[in-house]
Formats: sequence, C-alpha cells, structure tokens
Amino acid sequence: MNIILMRKMYLLSCLLALLLLPLSHQEEHRKLLLVSFDGFRWDYVNRVPTPNFRALMEEGVQVERVENTYITKTFPNHYTLVTGLHAESHGIVANEMYDPVLNRSFSMDGPEVYDSRWWEEAVPLWVTNQMAGHRSGAAMWPGSDVSIGGVYPSRYMTYNASISFNMRVEKLISWFSEPEEINFGMLYWEEPDESGHNLGPESPLMDVVIEDIDLKLGFLRDKLKKAGLYDKINLIVTSDHGMTQLSRDKVIELDAYVSRDLYTMIDKSPVVGILPKEGKFHEVYNMLENANPNMVVYKKENIPKYFHYTHNVRILPIIIEVKEGWTIVQNKTGSFMLGNHGYDNYLPSMHPVFVARGPSFRTGYIKNSMRSVDLYPLMCRVLGIQALPNNGSLMSVKDLLVETFTPRLVPPSKPTEPSYAWAVGTVLGSGLVLGFLITFVKKLTQRQLPSLPLTNREISQPLLREELRL
Ligand SMILES: [Zn+2]
Repeated sequence: MNIILMRKMYLLSCLLALLLLPLSHQEEHRKLLLVSFDGFRWDYVNRVPTPNFRALMEEGVQVERVENTYITKTFPNHYTLVTGLHAESHGIVANEMYDPVLNRSFSMDGPEVYDSRWWEEAVPLWVTNQMAGHRSGAAMWPGSDVSIGGVYPSRYMTYNASISFNMRVEKLISWFSEPEEINFGMLYWEEPDESGHNLGPESPLMDVVIEDIDLKLGFLRDKLKKAGLYDKINLIVTSDHGMTQLSRDKVIELDAYVSRDLYTMIDKSPVVGILPKEGKFHEVYNMLENANPNMVVYKKENIPKYFHYTHNVRILPIIIEVKEGWTIVQNKTGSFMLGNHGYDNYLPSMHPVFVARGPSFRTGYIKNSMRSVDLYPLMCRVLGIQALPNNGSLMSVKDLLVETFTPRLVPPSKPTEPSYAWAVGTVLGSGLVLGFLITFVKKLTQRQLPSLPLTNREISQPLLREELRL
C-alpha cells in the first residue's frame, strides 16, 4: 500500500470521526422539560428570596424579560410557547372566543376545549416531536389533552386543577425514566396567576405565594436530581404573562355607552371583542369610538400591525382595549379582581420570567430580552427536530445555547513512517466508522432530523392558515 493512499485513508478516518462524534454527543442532550408557572411576572424573582430560581440562573441562563404575544392571556400565550406563532396564526386568539365559520363559542373552562377544530390551525411542538420519532409527555399544559390532527401526547394527564404540583412532577419524572422514555415534557401550574388575580400583584401577601413557587421549583430540582436526570435534561422555566394591579376606581361600564341589544361581548377585561348585531356595526362603533379616554376602540382592520392580531376570523370586528390597570365590564355586578393581565404586550408588567439550564444552555449568562415566539425554534434546536414555519427567530436567541458541534475527539496521531499494521488498522477503523455513519444517516433520515447546519425558516407576518394545516 503506498503512502499517498494511506494518508488519504487517514484523512478520511479523521473526517468521519469528526462528523460522527459531535452528533452522538448532541443526541444525549436532547431531553427537554418546559415548565410554566402561570402568571409569574418577570420581576417576581427579585422581590423575595428565590434560591431555586437563583440556582437555575447561576447554572444556566436568564432572560430578564420575555415579550409575550397579544393578547396577554393564558390560552393564547401557552399555545404561542409551543408553536412559535402569534395568536392570529395559531387560532387560539383569546380565552373566550367566537368563530363565525364554525358558528361556535369557546371558553377555556367549557367542554368545547376538547373540540379539535379550535386547535388545529397550528401544530404544537409535542406533535412535531412525535412525528420526528420521539415521545412527548404533558402534565396539564393547555391543549395537551386534546386530539390535534388525531394525535395526543405520548403521555398526558386530562386537565384537573385539583391534581397537586408534586403529583404532576412525579408523573413527568416517571415518563422521562421509563424504558420508552419521553424526550420532551411540559408541566403547567396554575399559580401565581390565581393569587395574583385575587390579591393583586402589589399585595404583600403575594410574597408568600412567590416563595411557595420557588419551593415548588426546588421540589422539581430535587426530584430530577434523585432520578439522575438533573444534568441530562434541559430545563426551561417560564410563564405565559405577568400581572398588573387593578383599582375599583378604574372601571369602564359599557352599558353607559351602548345598548346590549346591539352587540355581543366576547371574552373578559381588559381586551374584549365586540360582535355587533347584523347591520349595527357602524352604529355600535360610532357610539364606542370616543366614549371613554381610558379605552381604545379598534376596527379589526385598524388594529396596529405590531400586535400581529388581525388575520383570523376569530378576531371580532371591533376590539376594545383598556389602559393598564383599568377594567371593562358591561356593568358592575359580581366579583372584582385586584389583579389582571391581557393588556398590551409591550407593557413590562405583562412580561413573564425565563430561566433555563442544562447541557444545551450556557452557564451564568444573562440576556436582556427575548420574544416568546422565539422559544419554539429554540426548543426545536434543543430537541434536534425541524421547526415548522413560525413567527420566531432562532438567531435572536441562539446566544442562550452552547453549541455542541465542536468535536471533542483528538484525531489519531499522524504516523511518522508507514507500517503494515497501521495501514490494516486504518482500513478496518475507516470501515467501521463508515458503517456507523451509514446506519446513523439512515436513522437520521427515518427520524426526519434536520440536515446540518440546521436552519430555521423565519417567516414574516401573517402566516396563512392553509400553510399550517396538518
Ligand atoms: Zn395565565
């Protein structure tokens, strides 16, 4: 065997080793657990000692503020987190909706939550992860107990608010630990949202609620450590929105301006949709347009572009948004909340928390801000799956990640003089590596993993509904 051939084979074996090892190294790092503490405002972590949040920040990354999507309500934003789409594109435009095409109403507390048609304008990450050959598990994440395109998460719990946080955690850990393990988990918890509404975020009583959330995060960390998962899993802790303080002096009553006979009101304060009765659009709009300086009344087509909240039939012909801290009702009956969210997503009070740690994330890194639509392409990158078209940008958040493409193998040392044994070793070694590579590429193709380098399709507004059909 001549020296040129041996040198070529040596180079080939090095190249194959370089190609193969970073991928297998990355494969191990593709576990992800996404946690949402509903209504956890970005600055709650600074308000009381939160040692478990602090530990995650030191061990991983913190984004000080997440700009979420309009409207800053629970269902729209939870679906944004797992689709990377603004509400107009994923179709869950509010907690309470009316669809004129389906001629049906939706309430997040009603049985229509289980009607797939509300959810199928988008494909959530748990479905895409499964389509790529992996397994997903969900503990109470909004929409995760609904058949979407005929698919449920591989493991999930039917929504039941009375199931404790600890039970949800234990279920998820068992799904990550069983032989047919999940690689992607989602965990939802109702607090501190509920207390934020009842007490108001400025109440000193909220301190205890925030401390309790930190303890719950501590429980999760502890359980992950005991299961041997803590250093293997990528853990993201975030939320859907913040919370702002309300005042009984800041209430707008629609009955003072327009008769209820002329319209139907959909969804609750602070952003409501007005569906005028047939032929009454102009009359209703004219009555409301300049009725109160603390509310803005938009015709659907005039909603500012930066809200990304126009292109969907579920967005009603007239939208009223009240100023921060204000409440809008038809009249003052029933209970009054001291805290609320749903306002303009540019308001800092509406922004959620974000911390993450794990093998894919940098250590001790602080980023000023990100958009919640960017989380989806980031999670796809962590899971190693191809993102569907979305409104997010991987480039905007890639700095949160450590890139694991740097090869860790020291290539075999170059021989000073050719020998027969070395040549045989190189041939056999190259053959083995080549065999592995072919098998791996086959596996890669079957799983529909992205080709390298992984690129994200960044799409500008709006995404048409047809593009997103299953
Ligand atoms: Zn919420």
